[in-house]
Amino acid sequence: MLQQTQVKTVIPYFNKFVKKFPSIQKLANSKYNEVLKQWAGLGYYRRAKSLYETAKILNFSYKSNIPSDFEKLKALPGIGDYTASAILAIGFNKTSDGADTNINRVVTRVFYLNPNSKNYNQNLIGKKKNFFSKKNYSITFQGLMELGALVCKVKNPKCNICPLHKVCLSVKRKSLPTPVKKNLRKIEKYYLLYGTSSKKVLFFKNNYSFLKGFHNLPLLHYKHNLFNQSFMKNNFSTKKKIVQVPNFIKHQISNRLLLLKLVIMKDIQKIKNKDFYWIRKDNIRNKLLSNFSKKFLKKFFLIEKIYV
Ligand code: SF4
Repeated sequence: MLQQTQVKTVIPYFNKFVKKFPSIQKLANSKYNEVLKQWAGLGYYRRAKSLYETAKILNFSYKSNIPSDFEKLKALPGIGDYTASAILAIGFNKTSDGADTNINRVVTRVFYLNPNSKNYNQNLIGKKKNFFSKKNYSITFQGLMELGALVCKVKNPKCNICPLHKVCLSVKRKSLPTPVKKNLRKIEKYYLLYGTSSKKVLFFKNNYSFLKGFHNLPLLHYKHNLFNQSFMKNNFSTKKKIVQVPNFIKHQISNRLLLLKLVIMKDIQKIKNKDFYWIRKDNIRNKLLSNFSKKFLKKFFLIEKIYV
């Protein structure tokens, strides 16, 4: 859960999750939809799938124990170098080249490493080897993680209370090594449809990885004039005018920024494309909807009053 998400966001989800699935065995024997339900709202749903698959493998091949071997850990779904290292360090007191961002920040600042240099990763691994206590690897690992999270923060590090103050080169040089910012956000444009027919709402079998496993309102790649005659002829019959809300609306899903053009289609008489399907309005609450669809259904109910 902590991959890509902050601790304070994760805590309520984690508590709810372990209450529902208190053991690897329990998780492995649950239905995937149940797991997704507990995960809903946390984003990056591939993590939920990996966790579920990992629980099944651990249950089947390791008698529900977690292996203490780097390669065996890395062979499990969703576990890469960092997670395998963290499990080894914290759970088994074993060394590895783990890449926790908090630890990396502390070490980078203490040794004043240049995060923009080609050899940065190599230098970092080398410095960490000297810096970590081999005997108490687990404690050093966790201690530096905490130090990075609470004291050596990204902005305004609290150097005056830091136990590394005397040896820290950033303090001596009175500046912090600063990485060049990269914009990792993907910006994507879509049409978002709100189609209705008497008491039903239109849904769509999206193939987008970030929406898999849920019922979703139709999200179609944006193309100028998509709703021309041929699109309508191939997909729907309706006699009512299609309404497009003038401005794009922003919506963030994980690392994606979606620019959405909202489209309202009322009184659809027939669907001609099997990727579209209906859900009755009074049955929507029983369905596993993506957070995104829940949010926009509410918005659409309001918008149709204004524009239609
Ligand atoms: S002295 Fe300041 S910059 Fe150096 S590790 Fe401590 S908090 Fe970070």
